[in-house]
Amino acid sequence: MGKVYLVGAGPGACDLISVRGKRLLQGCDVLIYDRLASEELLAYAKADCEKIYVGKSTGYHSISQEEINHILVEKAKTNNTVVRLKGGDPFVFGRGGEEAQALIENNIEFETVPGITSAIAVPEIAGIPVTFREVSQDIHIVTGHTAKNEITDYKALARTKGTIVFLMAVSTISTIAEKLIKYGMDEYMPVAVIENGTTENERILKTELKDIGTAIKMVRPPAVIVVGETAKYDLVSKSKRTTVAITGTEDFRKRLGRQLTDRGYNVKEVCRLKVKANNVDISTDKYDWLVFTSRNGVNVFFDHLKEKKKDIRSLKNKIAVIGEGTYKALSEKGIYADYMPNIYTSRALGKGLNEIAENESKLILRAEKGSDEIYEHIKNYNEVKLYSVEAEYITKCRENYIVFGSSLGVNTYLDKYEIADSTSIIAIGEVTRRALESRGYGNIYCCKKPTVDSIVERIEENEKIQKTESK
Ligand code: SAH
Repeated sequence: MGKVYLVGAGPGACDLISVRGKRLLQGCDVLIYDRLASEELLAYAKADCEKIYVGKSTGYHSISQEEINHILVEKAKTNNTVVRLKGGDPFVFGRGGEEAQALIENNIEFETVPGITSAIAVPEIAGIPVTFREVSQDIHIVTGHTAKNEITDYKALARTKGTIVFLMAVSTISTIAEKLIKYGMDEYMPVAVIENGTTENERILKTELKDIGTAIKMVRPPAVIVVGETAKYDLVSKSKRTTVAITGTEDFRKRLGRQLTDRGYNVKEVCRLKVKANNVDISTDKYDWLVFTSRNGVNVFFDHLKEKKKDIRSLKNKIAVIGEGTYKALSEKGIYADYMPNIYTSRALGKGLNEIAENESKLILRAEKGSDEIYEHIKNYNEVKLYSVEAEYITKCRENYIVFGSSLGVNTYLDKYEIADSTSIIAIGEVTRRALESRGYGNIYCCKKPTVDSIVERIEENEKIQKTESK
């Protein structure tokens, strides 16, 4: 028997999910989601994960709650780990409670994983605190959907001194506002409407209760509507956080993302590349040298050895690596490279190896479609295309910076999107920079060394210069 996790996806931005939620998402066999789950979150699931959309798309046939419950139960019965991803928190509207009941009735094991609810987070990121000392002591989270059925006690609500947060209320708020005024709420009460909160498409509209009927005509769901004194607050820093878009393979994105987040940058993954090992036969015995041009190459090679049950002691070769990162990846396997050039480029690697070992035989272990510069100087070699890199997920970059860690990344991204003039472009090294230039981009910041540390340094330097210039 499988198990179901009712996971809160958070209010919109893909990094506002809990650590537990993300981990479950990465491991599940079946993912059941609806419209509010961000597309970027879906990309965390495994490639062979079955993804089922059960969202309600207004105007078309919408799948009923009973059908959703049925899918949850059936998928769990066939031994799957099922994640039911729900916008915000699973138990704040959105019928998560009913799904839990259905699972209990059918004896299905399940767990709930709380999420950050849009009711609080969407106003917060828009600068509105839902409570504030001596201004608003309590909050009421109300659905606009039942407005016509009169379940909500508007008389009591009109008397509150607190904040009212309406969800699902775009189509009903004008009627609701009329009722609140009728029962005595001040018609000048501040109102804020936040559309697509916490995402790059966020729009904030401020008005007063008496005018909401007109103002709401410009709003499309999803939107949170805040009614109360705190709705007029605007607690956002005047200096916006710098955001950095990153592209590359998982290992690169993680290392860079972590360093940037620690330094206070907003990070967004705009292009995820996946390393796919090629099915190749590698016989290393007859070579004096093995040559690695990337960390990924090292990792794929050692995975290959493991799969073929080859003991690493069978490797009698000397090993050359392109630079620090690759050296480190190799040392994590317990092997210390015999050669690394002073400048970390494939051209320098080829040239350097030729100087110290021109007549010795070399096996170059590298990516398909990688840079060919290594071949400019190297002699006496063979090569194996160990792996290829594929795009797993791409979205348009709207950030202050975009970072490219390889020429492959450049070409994959630019095949789909252009880069706006307002975005500064960072290239990890010369080869990557040339790839950008050959696609018509200039003004590229290149790093001193092709390492994650050096990328971070480059961004920090740029930021310092910009701050001094704007003073
Ligand atoms: N369980 C969810 C709420 C589900 S009801 C939670 O805890 O957030 C769906 C409603 O949530 C929408 O109609 C809208 O009112 C609100 N909502 C969800 N995400 C939103 C977002 N990013 N911006 C504005 N409103 C949002």
